[in-house]
Amino acid sequence: MSARVISGKEVAEEILSNDLRLRVEKLKGKNIVPKLVVILVGEMKASASYVAQKEKFAGKAGIESEVRRFEDTISEEEILDEINKINTDSSIHGVIVQLPLPKHISVTKVLNSIDPSKDVDGFTPSNVGKLFLGEDTLVSCTPKGIMSILKSADVNLTGMNVTVIGRSNIVGKPVSILCQQQNATVTMCHSKTRDLNAKLADADVIIVAAGVPKFINGDQIPNGAVVVDVGIHNIEGKLCGDVDFESASKKASAITPVPGGVGPMTVCALIENTIIAAERSS
Ligand code: NAP
Repeated sequence: MSARVISGKEVAEEILSNDLRLRVEKLKGKNIVPKLVVILVGEMKASASYVAQKEKFAGKAGIESEVRRFEDTISEEEILDEINKINTDSSIHGVIVQLPLPKHISVTKVLNSIDPSKDVDGFTPSNVGKLFLGEDTLVSCTPKGIMSILKSADVNLTGMNVTVIGRSNIVGKPVSILCQQQNATVTMCHSKTRDLNAKLADADVIIVAAGVPKFINGDQIPNGAVVVDVGIHNIEGKLCGDVDFESASKKASAITPVPGGVGPMTVCALIENTIIAAERSS
C-alpha cells in the first residue's frame, strides 16, 4: 500500500482562497482591517523563520501583521506592559508571543496577561477552559490545523480509535479533546505509557506529537491507518517529523508530510483566529 499524502500546504491555500480572503473583504467593507501583533524576543533562528511564515500568510489573506522585536534582555515587566498596551488598543485584534522566551521571563505570567478575546494562539486559561468545556472559543492553532487536515481528508472520526502520542498543553491535550468531541475514542500516550505498540495496534488515526525525530515507523502502524505527523526537526539541514515517512507511508492509507503538512495548517489557523477575533469585535 502507498499512502495518500495529505498536503497541509494545499489545504491551507484552499481555505485561504475559499474562505479567509472573503471574510477579510467583508470586514474591510465595514472599515475593519484585522490586525495581528507578534511579540518576538531574542534572536532564535527557528522563531524568526516561524514568524516570517506567519507574516507571509497574513499578507496573502489581506490582514495586517506587525512584529514587535525585543532584545532578550527585556524584563518581564516590560513585556507585560507591552501586552497591556496591546490589550487596550482597539486596532489590534490578535496577539501572540513567540515561544520560547528567555529563562528570566515567566511564560505562564506572560500568556495569562493576554486579553482572552485577542488570544489567537488559544493559550490563556480562559480559552483552554472553554475548549475543554466544548464552548465556542479561540482554539489553539496546531490542534485546530490538525482537525482541518482530517476534515479535508474526509476522515469522519465518529467511533474511530485515535491514538495521540504526546500530552503537551499546546498539542497532545487539546487535540485529544477535539477528537473526543467529534466522537472518537481517544488514547493519549506519553513517555510513561506502557507498551506503546499495543496502543497503536487498533488505531484508525495516529497523531504523533512526541518531539522525537522519526519516533514512529511503519512496523508500528496498522494497515490503513491515517497518520498525522506534528513533529518538526532540522537534522543536519534536512527537515523531518516524528514519523519515519518512508516506512509509514507503506502502511498508512493517508499521511501528512514534513515539511508541508501540519506546519502550514498551524499558520492558517492562526490567521483564521485573528479574523474570528476581528469579526467578534465588529
Ligand atoms: P513537548 O511539549 O516536548 O511534548 C512531547 C510529548 O511527547 C510529551 O507529552 C512527552 O511525554 C511525549 N513523549 C516524549 N517521548 C516519548 C516517548 N518515548 N513515548 C511516548 N511519548 C513520549 O512537545 P510539543 O510542544 O507537543 O511538540 C511536539 C512536536 O511537535 C515537536 O517536534 C514540535 O517541534 C512539533 N510542533 C510542531 C508544530 C507545527 O506547527 N508543525 C506546532 C507545535 C509543535 P511526557 O509528557 O511524559 O514528557
